[in-house]
Amino acid sequence: MSTLSASPTNADIVAGQREYLLPAMLHMYSEPLALVEGKGVRVRDADGKEYLDLFSGILTTSIGHAHPRIIERVTEQMNRLGHVSTLYATDVQVEAARRLAELAPGNLQRTFFTNSGTEAIETALMMACLHTGRSEIVALRMAYHGRSFMATNVTAHASWRPLATRVAGVHHAMSPYAYRCPFKQPCDETCAEKFAHDLEEVIVTSTNGQPAAFIAETIQGVGGYVVPPPGYFQRAAEIIRSYGGLLIVDEVQAGFGRTGRHWFGIEHYGVLPDIMVMAKGIAGGFPVGATITTDEIAASWRGKTISTFGGNPICMASMCATLEVMKEERVYARAEERGAQLREGLLALQADHPWIGDVRGMGLMQALEIVEDPTGKKPDAARTNALLEACRDEGLLLGQGGMWGHCVRIGPSLLVTEDEIAEGLEKLGKACGAVS
Ligand code: PMP
Repeated sequence: MSTLSASPTNADIVAGQREYLLPAMLHMYSEPLALVEGKGVRVRDADGKEYLDLFSGILTTSIGHAHPRIIERVTEQMNRLGHVSTLYATDVQVEAARRLAELAPGNLQRTFFTNSGTEAIETALMMACLHTGRSEIVALRMAYHGRSFMATNVTAHASWRPLATRVAGVHHAMSPYAYRCPFKQPCDETCAEKFAHDLEEVIVTSTNGQPAAFIAETIQGVGGYVVPPPGYFQRAAEIIRSYGGLLIVDEVQAGFGRTGRHWFGIEHYGVLPDIMVMAKGIAGGFPVGATITTDEIAASWRGKTISTFGGNPICMASMCATLEVMKEERVYARAEERGAQLREGLLALQADHPWIGDVRGMGLMQALEIVEDPTGKKPDAARTNALLEACRDEGLLLGQGGMWGHCVRIGPSLLVTEDEIAEGLEKLGKACGAVS
C-alpha cells in the first residue's frame, strides 16, 4: 500500500491514483500529470514545473485559479453557514438564482441547482418529459451531455457510452458538423436546412411523432467545438416546436461569455430555449449545475424533489462571486477580443502546418482538427496525442476532443490577457514544429 509523503512527487501521486482510483478514469497524456497549485492561468505540478493553463480544468476555472474574490466570498460563507440542503432557503441561493435569471435570455427565470452538468442535464430531460407528458428525446450525434445512465444515452460517442444498451426513447439526428458536411463543401446556410431536415426525419421515422424535447449543445464541446452552420438552430427550434416538443440547450461549455459578445451561445442564433442547462464555468471551479426554465414549465414539476448538495451555500457564494466578476469584467467582450487574437494565431499555424485541417470555434472556445492530409481529412489521433505531449513539454496545457480524439481544444480563463494568449501561441507553435 502506498502512502503519500509530505511533499509527494508526480510519480508518488500517479502511483496512488493507480492504486486507489477507478482505472476507467480518463486522464490527459500517456503519463498522468499531478497538479498541486494554481493562480490565474498558471498551474504547477508536483515536481515544481509551471504550466500556462489554457484549458482551465475543462473550461471551468472561468475567471482563473484562486481568484481573490472567490476566496474572500467562500471564506466568509464557510465561516457563516456551510451546508443546509435544498430543504431550507438561503439568501445566497436566492442571490445566485436571481443573478442567473438576470443573465438568461427571454423569460427563463426558475432554477434548480445541482452539483454537476450531468445532474443538470438529467433535471432538464425530466422537466421536459413532465411538462409535455411525453418520453422521447431527440439529441445530436457526437453530442456529450454527461456521465449518468440517461446522460450517456443522450451522449453520442461510442467511447463515452460504456453500456451498449440504449435507454428506450433516445434518438440521434445528424451532427451539424460543417468541416465534415456530407452535403456541400464548404458547408453553408443551405446545409443548415439539410441538417434540420434530418432532425425532422428522425422525429418522423424513429420516434412516435411526439418528442418531449430536442437537446443540443450550442457548440459541441467534447465533439471538438463543432459550430453548426448559420440558420441551424432557428430551423431546429421551429421543427421541434412544430411537433410539440421543447428545446433544451446545453450551455455547460459555451455559457457565460465563453463564445464572445453574448452571455450564452444560443444568443448568437436569436433562438429562445425552453430549458437551459449550465455548469462548469458558472461557479469558477466549485461544483454547481443549474437548470433554468420558465414559470410555466417549472410549474409542471408536481412530484417531490430535493438535492442534498444542490444550492450548497459555499458553492453558491463562489457562483455569486464569479458572476459578479464576470459582469464587472464584461467577459463576453474580453472573450470576443482575445478569441479573435487566438484564432488569428491558430490560422497562422494552420498556414504553416497542412495537417491542421480546421480551425474553428467562437470566442475563447477554439479548436484545431488534426488530419493526415487536408484533402482526405482522415482524423489523426496519433499526431494529436504527440502534439499535446509536446505542448506539455513546452509548459502549456490544452485539451483534447473530437469523435476520434483528433481535436485540440482551447478554453482558457475568460480573464486571460493578450500577453498570455501570445505566450500560449508561441508555445503551441514550438510544439507544432516538434511534431511536424
Ligand atoms: N454537457 C456538456 C456540454 C459537457 O461538456 C459536459 C462535461 N464535459 C457535461 C454536460 C457534463 O458535465 P459534468 O462533467 O459536470 O457532469
